Amino acid sequence: MFLTEPILAILGLGIFLIGTVVGSFLNVCIYRIPWQKSVIWPSSRCPRCWSAIAARDNIPILSWIALRGECRHCGLPISPRYPLVEALVGLLFLGAYLVDVIDGPRGAWGHVPAFQLVAVAYHAMFLALLVAATFIDYDVMMIPDQITVTGMVLGVALGTIWPAVRPEPAAAGTHLQGFWVGLAGLLVGAGLVQAVRWIAGFLLRREAMGFGDVTLLGMIGAFLGWQAAVLTFFLAPFFGLAHAAWTMMAYWKKRLSGAQLSSADREIPFGPYLSMAAASLLFLWPWLWPGWARGLFGTLFVIFWWMLGVQVNLPN
Ligand SMILES: [Zn+2]
Repeated sequence: MFLTEPILAILGLGIFLIGTVVGSFLNVCIYRIPWQKSVIWPSSRCPRCWSAIAARDNIPILSWIALRGECRHCGLPISPRYPLVEALVGLLFLGAYLVDVIDGPRGAWGHVPAFQLVAVAYHAMFLALLVAATFIDYDVMMIPDQITVTGMVLGVALGTIWPAVRPEPAAAGTHLQGFWVGLAGLLVGAGLVQAVRWIAGFLLRREAMGFGDVTLLGMIGAFLGWQAAVLTFFLAPFFGLAHAAWTMMAYWKKRLSGAQLSSADREIPFGPYLSMAAASLLFLWPWLWPGWARGLFGTLFVIFWWMLGVQVNLPN
């Protein structure tokens, strides 16, 4: 497709707006899925006066500003988290568009390959699932299967239909390869968290991560391939450092004051940080993979075979 600059700008704005609408739907998912409620029916209502929210009061971001964060009928404050999630998803979608289309590969005459729009849709879907997992995990300390199992199926299926859509080196040439790459990513991601859970359970005699983290990293592997899943796992704790430090401080303050402690006082959710690490890798991958990660995995590959007594030489 030949896309001139004004069209590229309008397309970017459109993708941002689609993101805010998806964010609005994710707000419903985040609020309802933990309570096993339908996300389609009934329509949104004010939790206090029970009046249905009209279409004009349901416009992402703008309605919240127009209503100054209050229910039109009873004045109940509406959390600023709703417009913030809508803006966040809009920006994430825009980010995927910037990486895949604006900064993405160009065809022979400088045109944008139509396939890059498939890549935007694929990444946008992945980011939407990560946002839902993040906020639900913050709210209720668990990640529902509706998010992660759906994500695992989508990651494997879409990567089978469009085998080239996953980032290097997980991009595949044929549908069958695309299927195996997705399945390998799923198994490595899920297996890594499960292995650490077993080891921690054996050494510390308590649960280190939830089963939701197993399926979440499985989903990340299914979408991005096993290499990105492994990096996500080791990068995630850095994103969680501030939260962990803050939780430990609150824990010791409570402990020194002699208050009653529960195991929840030392717990932080891991899902949001897996999600943040995966989203960061997604955006930085075009630079990270050739600049650093390929060399890292090449070195690990050589060390692995060397330990088994096999000498391998990597092609450049
Ligand atoms: Zn109300």
